[in-house]
Amino acid sequence: MKIVMLGAPGAGKGTQAVNIAKEYNIPHISTGDIFRANIKNQTELGMKAKEYMDKGALVPDEITIGMLLSRIADKDCDNGFVLDGFPRTIPQAESLKKALKEQGAKIDCAVDIEVPDEDIINRMSGRRSCPNCGGTYHVTFNPPKQEGICDACGTELVQRADDKPETVLQRLKTYHEQTQPLIEFYENEGVLVTVDGTKKPSEVLEDILGALK
Ligand code: ADP
Ligand code: AMP
Repeated sequence: MKIVMLGAPGAGKGTQAVNIAKEYNIPHISTGDIFRANIKNQTELGMKAKEYMDKGALVPDEITIGMLLSRIADKDCDNGFVLDGFPRTIPQAESLKKALKEQGAKIDCAVDIEVPDEDIINRMSGRRSCPNCGGTYHVTFNPPKQEGICDACGTELVQRADDKPETVLQRLKTYHEQTQPLIEFYENEGVLVTVDGTKKPSEVLEDILGALK
C-alpha cells in the first residue's frame, strides 16, 4: 500500500501516519523528520534546509525530491510506505508519479485530513514531538502517559522551533499557496480520500482505516 498524507501543517498527518504504518506494517516517511535529523547532525543538507524551515517556507524541490526518491528506493519500501509531508508541491507530486510509474506502481491512496485554519494555531502551540522516534503529542488533546516523555521510546519530548505562532502563520500561507493544489491533483488521479480531522485522533484513524479498506 502506497499512501500519501495531505493536509495543513498541524492537521494530524504525523499522528495518523504512525498508526497507518503500524496497521499495514510499512515505513512512515516524514520529510520534516528527515530534515530535522539532518539539522541535529549538522549535515550540509540540514544547514541548507534550516534556512527555509525557520522562515516557514518550503525547502526547494531540487533538494527535497532527490532525497525522498532515494529514501523510497530502500528495501523496506518494497511493500509500500506512508508519506507524511511529501509531496508538498505539484512538481514533487509529478516526480513521485513518474518514479513510481517507472516501476509499474502508483500511489494507491491520498488521505486529506481537513482541519480549519482557526484550530491549527492551538494545535501547534501545544504540540510536543519526540526527537528520537518522531512520536507526536499535544499537551491537552493528546498528552503522553508521563508528562514530557515519549510513550513509545522514553525520550524527552521537545517543542519544535517552527511551532511558534508567527512561523505557523507563514507555514499556513505556504500550505494554501503551494500544497493545497495537491488535493485536486490526487482527486484527478482518482485516489483522494477526505476525512474530518477535527474529530478525536482515534475517530480520525477509524475513518481513515475504513476508507483504505
Ligand atoms: P502534522 O503532522 O499534520 O503537522 P501532527 O500530527 O503533528 O500534525 O499534529 C499536530 C498537533 O495536533 C499535535 O500536537 C497532535 O498531538 C495534535 N492532534 C493531532 N490530531 C489531533 C486531533 N484529531 N484532535 C486534536 N489534536 C490533534
Ligand atoms: P513538517 O515536519 O512536515 O511539518 O515539515 C517541517 C518543515 O520542513 C516544513 O515547514 C518545510 O520547511 C520542510 N519540509 C518538509 N517536507 C517538505 C517538502 N516535501 N517540501 C519542502 N519542504 C518540506
